[in-house]
Amino acid sequence: MKWPFSRDEDNPSDARKRHMMVEQQIRARGISDELVLDAMRRVPRHEFIPATFQDVAYTDGPLPIGNDQTISQPYMVAVMSEALQVEAGMKVLEIGTGSGYQTAVLAEMGLEVFTIEVIQKLADDAEELLSGYENIHFRCGDGRQGWPEAAPFDGIIVTAAPKSVPEVYVEQLAIGGHLVIPVGGFSQQLYVFEKATDGSLEGGSRFGVRFVPLV
Ligand code: SAH
Repeated sequence: MKWPFSRDEDNPSDARKRHMMVEQQIRARGISDELVLDAMRRVPRHEFIPATFQDVAYTDGPLPIGNDQTISQPYMVAVMSEALQVEAGMKVLEIGTGSGYQTAVLAEMGLEVFTIEVIQKLADDAEELLSGYENIHFRCGDGRQGWPEAAPFDGIIVTAAPKSVPEVYVEQLAIGGHLVIPVGGFSQQLYVFEKATDGSLEGGSRFGVRFVPLV
């Protein structure tokens, strides 16, 4: 397995910015999963951002990535990654590849990642940028169908908001697995569910969020 972003020593200045980002924006707000923190220290966020915004790549907010889409705030990526409660080697489904930043973080966590993006250009760019990873599987299409051939997943992370939780994700989630998903319209909440042994979802909302709609 290749880890193309593990060569931090190449640029000490970017590595320092990432270290600060993790300490000040993420660990300071209560994220403690070392698998997540380590991954976010490694992935060069500026590589996923248009040239005009690269100087603010490590600031505390979302940024535009073109096609009217955004790369999530680093803290949001951390919260959602931690909420999956996964270990290296597990299998996760990601809906909304976007820039591929969240995908890269999941891959650096040692997960087998299945990611779906509906916009062809974004899907192509992310696949090219992350082509060194053997543990990422890309698909361009409608993520509302999930990825039935690869199910069940130990975790499902959705980075675009549906109006209600799609039943497909519940079906494709393993017992004991977690579903992390923003739900709502103009007003949204981030939900974290665990699939119970009887197949039902347990859990609830964490806080208010603003994601693009799952279309
Ligand atoms: N995680 C991304 C942010 C994604 S923004 C990152 O780190 O950059 C949400 C993405 O979901 C957008 O790229 C949007 O095109 C995509 N999306 C919206 N509806 C979708 C659908 N039905 N299937 C797959 N992707 C979808």
